Amino acid sequence: MTKKQGKHHDAANGQKDSAKASQDAARGAGLVGGHPPSSAEWARGAEALAETAPALIGGYAPTVPRPAPGIVMVEPGKTVSLAAIDASTDGGFDKDAAKELLRAERTRIKALQERLYAEHKRSLLIVFQAIDTGGKDGTIRNVFEGVNPQGCRVWSFKVPSAEELDQDFLWRYHLRTPGRGMIGVFNRSHYEDVLVVRVKDLVPEPVWRERYGLINGFERLLTASGTTVLKFFLHISKDEQKKRLEARIAETEKHWKFDPADLVERKSWDAYQGAFQDALSRCSTPYAPWLVVPANRKWYRNIVVARTIADTLQAMDPQFPEARAGISGLRVDD
Ligand code: AMP
Ligand code: MG
Repeated sequence: MTKKQGKHHDAANGQKDSAKASQDAARGAGLVGGHPPSSAEWARGAEALAETAPALIGGYAPTVPRPAPGIVMVEPGKTVSLAAIDASTDGGFDKDAAKELLRAERTRIKALQERLYAEHKRSLLIVFQAIDTGGKDGTIRNVFEGVNPQGCRVWSFKVPSAEELDQDFLWRYHLRTPGRGMIGVFNRSHYEDVLVVRVKDLVPEPVWRERYGLINGFERLLTASGTTVLKFFLHISKDEQKKRLEARIAETEKHWKFDPADLVERKSWDAYQGAFQDALSRCSTPYAPWLVVPANRKWYRNIVVARTIADTLQAMDPQFPEARAGISGLRVDD
């Protein structure tokens, strides 16, 4: 097949896929893979995006996240109250059974990632945000174990460099969004620019206030370009943070992880909760809703995050590309 024919071939497939994806979006209004119905508002928003997106992304309507039971999805347009969400729930799971379940979800992620990579058409961006000791590193370590590193990149965002500060605030994140076929993981993200930046007063208020809308636009651009955006907020209680900080102080092997600045940041607990609440409420959209994960119990947190990733990848339904004709009969010369 010539390059040109290949393009036409892709476009035809694209139409098929886009029709299928629209059906998927329509199904979002009802039961999807055993999940509770998403809100009508969410489903409407996702459908509206699916209608406009094919023109923008060459035939591929976006797939919206599929939160696992136990995760609290922040309703677009509503204000979330973090204090009202129990961080300690274990969802009625047994800790030992949870290990088996996690293994099973990892196997699903691995198989689906291989398809996503082979398909080379869409991508998945997974954002983790949490207060210090909230479990971002641990979740990434546990959930992505065994995933082919070629198809997955993890980025941890720290205090911006001088070069990064010379650019617009989204620049360093946009540089690292996943390309086609890839899973990108953000350990901290563009949300830091309305979290730590707000709490520590690093820019004037009108500057960070403007950013919620800019972030929504950024995520819409990504979604409309074939990237599904999954955003997890790992929700721990203030007591749990105390325990985790004490554990880091008590165990010498954990000292490398202990940052004395965390004790100072803890004094701003309420300000951080307020900033998280605002970010989650203002930036939960039908195409990229915020997912709150009860995260006091690490093993519970791991399975609901893994299940959500696996279910979302499954809903994306990535396909191996069609094999070239006539491979089976080929002979390799001596
Ligand atoms: P850690 O994730 O514990 O290694 O710490 C990274 C540090 O970088 C945290 O204290 C964050 O608050 C800080 N940080 C990340 N992004 C930004 C940002 N955009 N502006 C200022 N500080 C940031
Ligand atoms: Mg830290």
